[in-house]
Amino acid sequence: MPTEQQLALLISTYDLGHQPFALASPAAWLGAAGARVVCNDLAVEPLDEAAVRTARLIAVHLPMHTATRLAGELTPRLKALNPKAQLCFFGLYAPMNEDYLRSLGGDSVLGAEFEAALVATYRAATTGEALPQPGNLDKLAFLTPDRVGLPGLEHYAKLRLPDGSERLSGYTEASRGCKHRCRHCPVVPVYDGRFRVIERDVVLADVRQQVAAGARHISFGDPDFLNGPGHALALIEDLHAEFPGLTYDVTIKVEHLLRHEAALPKLRRTGCLFVISAIESFEDGVLERLDKGHTRAQALAAVELLRRSGLDLSPTFVPFTPWTTLEGYRGLLSDIVALDLVAAVAPVQLALRLLVPAGSLILELDDWPRFAGAYDAENLTYAWRNPDPAVDTLQGEIMALVADGEAAGEERHSLFGRLWRRVHESLGETAPPLPPGRTGAVPSLSEGWYCCAEPSENLMRAAQV
Ligand code: SF4
Repeated sequence: MPTEQQLALLISTYDLGHQPFALASPAAWLGAAGARVVCNDLAVEPLDEAAVRTARLIAVHLPMHTATRLAGELTPRLKALNPKAQLCFFGLYAPMNEDYLRSLGGDSVLGAEFEAALVATYRAATTGEALPQPGNLDKLAFLTPDRVGLPGLEHYAKLRLPDGSERLSGYTEASRGCKHRCRHCPVVPVYDGRFRVIERDVVLADVRQQVAAGARHISFGDPDFLNGPGHALALIEDLHAEFPGLTYDVTIKVEHLLRHEAALPKLRRTGCLFVISAIESFEDGVLERLDKGHTRAQALAAVELLRRSGLDLSPTFVPFTPWTTLEGYRGLLSDIVALDLVAAVAPVQLALRLLVPAGSLILELDDWPRFAGAYDAENLTYAWRNPDPAVDTLQGEIMALVADGEAAGEERHSLFGRLWRRVHESLGETAPPLPPGRTGAVPSLSEGWYCCAEPSENLMRAAQV
C-alpha cells in the first residue's frame, strides 16, 4: 500500500539544549519511507498546531525525565487537536513509563533503537499494518540524520569559552546505550549492558552538515564515548583530519579514563576541549550503592590524569541521595575546593537529588525500603526521604540558591561560596574562608548536563511547552 505524502510529526519537548539528534535521525528514515516529515522542537518553538491536526503519526521523543513530564502536559492538547492520529512515544524513558503513557492515550511505546520501529509505526498508521513490538535492540544501519526541518543551531546551547566568547555548537552521537550497569542509570533498564555503534561515515556526514550550518564545536552525546574505543578513536582522527579547527566534548566514565589513559593525548590533539565525567560522589559507600565502577581513589586519579593530559574536566554529581549526610555534603564541597574544581562544576550539579524512576535498579538495594515512599505518578519517580530530615531541607535550600544564582548570572566561585557557607551553617559551624581558585573559567556549554537526578521545578518551568 502506498504511504506517500502522509504526515509524520516528530516532537521533542526538551533535549538538554541540543538540536535533537533523535528527531533528525528518524526524520531521515521516515522520509526515505515516503512520509512527509515535520519536526517540531518545543524547547525552542511553539507547537505546530496545523501539523498536529493533519498528522497520521505523532511521535514524541522521551530521552529523559523532564521531557517525559513535559510530554505528559502536552498530550491532552495533542489528543484534543487530533484524536485520530497514531500517537507514539519513543526513547529511553518510554518503556519504563509505558502504563502512564498508555493512560494518556498513547497507541504505541517504543524503546531505544527506534528508527526502524518508527517507520513500521508510520506504516501501521497509514496502511493498517500491525504495530511493531517495543524493546527491539536489533542493530540498525543508520542513515545520515535529516536536520533540514529543525530550528537552526543558533537556537541551542552554545560553547562558552574562558574569555567569555561563545561558539555555535552542534550535537551528534557516535553510539547509543552503554556496556555498564550503574544502578542509578536510566540507560540500564533499556540497554541492559549493551551499546550500539553509529557508523563512522554517518557520524562524519552528520558533523559535516552541522559545520556547514555554522557549528564550530560538537558535543558527542554518547552515554560513554569510550564504550567502543576503536570506533571512537578512529572517528576523532577522521574528524580532526577533515575539520582541524573544530573542537568537541565527550562523556567518559572514570573507569574508562583510567583504562584508556594512553588515548587522552589523542583526544587533546584532535580538538577535545573538555570531558564530562559522572563522578557522582567522592564517598566510597555511595559509589558502591550506585555500583558506579570506581572508587574515591580512582576518581581522584582521573581528575589528576585529565589535568596532566591538558583536558578540562566537567564533573557531574548526584550529591543528594538517601545515604548523604550533612558532613558528607560538606566533604563533597571540600573535595571540590581541594581539587581546584570550583570553576569546573556547573552549580546545578551540587543541588541534584537522586532520581528513582520506575524500573530503576536502585529499587533492588537491600536498604532501599528504609527510605522509600510510594511511587509518585505525577512526578514519575519513587519518593524517598533521607533518614536525616536536615539533609532534605538543605537540598531544597541549595536548589533555591542555585536557581537564584543562575537566574542572576552569578559567577561560579561566588555561588559556590554561598553553598559553602550554607552547609556550614546547617552544621552549626562558621565556614572557613575559601582559598582563591587557581584555575579560572573553563569551557562549558550554556546549558547544563544531567540525567540521573530530579529536575527542579525551575527547570520544568523554564522548559515549559
Ligand atoms: S552511568 Fe554512565 S557508565 Fe554507568 S551505565 Fe549509565 S551511561 Fe553507562
